[in-house]
Amino acid sequence: MPEGDSIWRAAAQLHAALAGQQLTGSDFRVPKFATLKLDGWTVNEVVPRGKHLLMRLRGPDEEQLTIHSHLKMEGIWQVYPPGGRWRKPGFTARCVLRTATADAVGFSLGILEVVRTADEDSVVGHLGPDLLGPDWDLAEAERRLRAAPDVPVGVALLDQRNVAGIGNIYRCEACFLSGVHPAAPVSYVQDLPKLLIDAKQLLEANLGPGRRTTVLNKQGTPVGRNAGRPGYWVYRREHQPCLKCATPIRRGVLAKDTGTEERDIYFCPTCQPPPGPKA
Ligand SMILES: [Zn+2]
Repeated sequence: MPEGDSIWRAAAQLHAALAGQQLTGSDFRVPKFATLKLDGWTVNEVVPRGKHLLMRLRGPDEEQLTIHSHLKMEGIWQVYPPGGRWRKPGFTARCVLRTATADAVGFSLGILEVVRTADEDSVVGHLGPDLLGPDWDLAEAERRLRAAPDVPVGVALLDQRNVAGIGNIYRCEACFLSGVHPAAPVSYVQDLPKLLIDAKQLLEANLGPGRRTTVLNKQGTPVGRNAGRPGYWVYRREHQPCLKCATPIRRGVLAKDTGTEERDIYFCPTCQPPPGPKA
């Protein structure tokens, strides 16, 4: 599952390629929209909302539609020169948008639908505050998390209805930075705002190419024992020494997690002591 920063980058790339451009062709390869043709429509903008992508278009008669997509597990949008050879198998293409200057192709999209722009809330209105959004609201995200105090915080952070944009990498890394065990119930976390701010800073620090979470200080200088080497604090570092205390990193699974590839959690048992019995 992509993280919010991946979606942000995808939106920026699509926006650069498509915004202001008129579609010369469109092809929706999903049954519900197979007959929809948006030739002649103009792309206003492409914006990320949590892990969702919204492409907003206006029609010849000023009607406004939004192409809503979600990458889910395998999805990806790629931009090609007009008529360029695709780098993914054609049968996995779900949406093809052509302009005079670029072709944008969405492959293996988990969700692809077209809604009236005025009805966008029907597809993304359930999302919690977006960590990378212009309307980021720390207090509201905290309120939503605290509404279910017994849920493991590692599960609550992935629930996009609480806060939008966190996937497994940032869930693990933010919990580490806050010294919080991912299995600890939300009520057990003393400083939820710090946890959210850590996650937000990690996402923001990764809006450029590449991804690492160990670059953290304000000067952009690598910190910790991992300085100079790209990487993560705990994510996929099972058995390797903690970069703060050298304790071997552990991998675990959160019982209440329903996802598949997102189930693994990584943590330092010393820096993130497991929750004790509730007082
Ligand atoms: Zn440690």
